Amino acid sequence: MSTIDTRCVQAGYTPGNGEPRQIPIVQSTTFKYATSEDMGKLFDLEASGYFYTRLQNPTNDYVAAKLAALEGGTAAMLTSSGQAANFFAIFNICNAGDHIVASSSIYGGTFNLISVTLAKMGISSTFVSPDATDEELDAAFTPNTRAMFGETIANPALTVLDIERFAAAAHRHGVPLIIDNTFPTPVNCRPIEWGADIVTHSTTKYMDGHGVAVGGAIIDAGRFDWMAHADKYPGLCTPDDSYHGITYAEKFGKEGAFITKCTSQLMRDLGCIQSPQHAFYLNLGLESLHVRMPRHCENGLAVASFLKEHPAVKAVSFPHLPGDRYHDLAMKYMPQGGCGVVSFELKGGRAAAETFMKHLKMAAIETHVADARTCCLNPATSTHRQMTEEQLAAAGIPAGLVRISCGLEGAEDLIADIAQALEAVSL
Ligand SMILES: *Cc1c(COP(=O)(O)O)cnc(C)c1O
Repeated sequence: MSTIDTRCVQAGYTPGNGEPRQIPIVQSTTFKYATSEDMGKLFDLEASGYFYTRLQNPTNDYVAAKLAALEGGTAAMLTSSGQAANFFAIFNICNAGDHIVASSSIYGGTFNLISVTLAKMGISSTFVSPDATDEELDAAFTPNTRAMFGETIANPALTVLDIERFAAAAHRHGVPLIIDNTFPTPVNCRPIEWGADIVTHSTTKYMDGHGVAVGGAIIDAGRFDWMAHADKYPGLCTPDDSYHGITYAEKFGKEGAFITKCTSQLMRDLGCIQSPQHAFYLNLGLESLHVRMPRHCENGLAVASFLKEHPAVKAVSFPHLPGDRYHDLAMKYMPQGGCGVVSFELKGGRAAAETFMKHLKMAAIETHVADARTCCLNPATSTHRQMTEEQLAAAGIPAGLVRISCGLEGAEDLIADIAQALEAVSL
């Protein structure tokens, strides 16, 4: 099964004779066994099978297997949200006293997770610019660094990460690179092919794509040699007393250790499982992901090109727009397109942004991106409302900034809606 298109449709689930054609929703918390010995083997990870949906459920496993196939990984798991995916991916290999290096250009929720919540748990961090030189990247690592983190296309800054260079830096320091690949999806970029070790997703975005189910996923490339860095990863390389003395890296190898530990330890103890019903919705989204992504990208480019020429617009960010700061990196990592999110700054600042948004007829005001329906947001009057003009400027979020997530509507209708709303601004 070679093409990404075929994998979107077919991977992960192959029914046997007379079995359901579509992935069955196994709406059951628990699974039945004839003897305690049978069940004991599952608890000891001696046999594989299901016993409780917090740990594993067949519906989730079919969809996780599809995601592993899409990203080119060896194992994958679903989580209840993108936040849970990033938390688990980091916490699976970091303990109190450890340190991570992260790109400063990442989703706000992930920035808070790393800089506030993980810090409370004793995991410290150093943020680096996505544009940092190799020397600056090297300088961010300390002897207790355990992972490096970044986003392929950052939400909302729309910077593009030089994944190869970040992977090389991580590997020079003997740690894995974790990439949040939410915005381009594996249809447009597969970070594992560029050296990433772990890939995460907020499946809430394009993968679902219809605004119906919050969810997340973690995919392991199966390449990082934990045993070669056993001193750094005791959780994977020494016996787990909470799991019958299993040493994950020995028993499950490079291909399976990370996800098995993440499931049998973190999911067991923290319980951020995706419901089988949500996994089913996610799979419906995945079945058309390869058809939807090109249209989102096409609409994004059309809107970005229109905005760039408009007199009321001060600046436009869209990595695939010729002349964008990140155009070269975008073409290297995502020659077919990145995503449909465009951000732009209005010359008239906050007041202009408010007028513009008020006059939109089709594009809805929402705290969401990557939906089939176009939506937009002015951070200064919504998500970043508590900030002063000075704080907004320091955070690189001008008051007149609008983020628009281009949906699957006709480009000419989208542009017409934006054009009439901009007319109100220009008056
Ligand atoms: C939305 C988002 C998240 C958080 O995902 P949720 O599913 O909302 O928890 C993480 N990373 C990126 C890049 C996102 O866009």
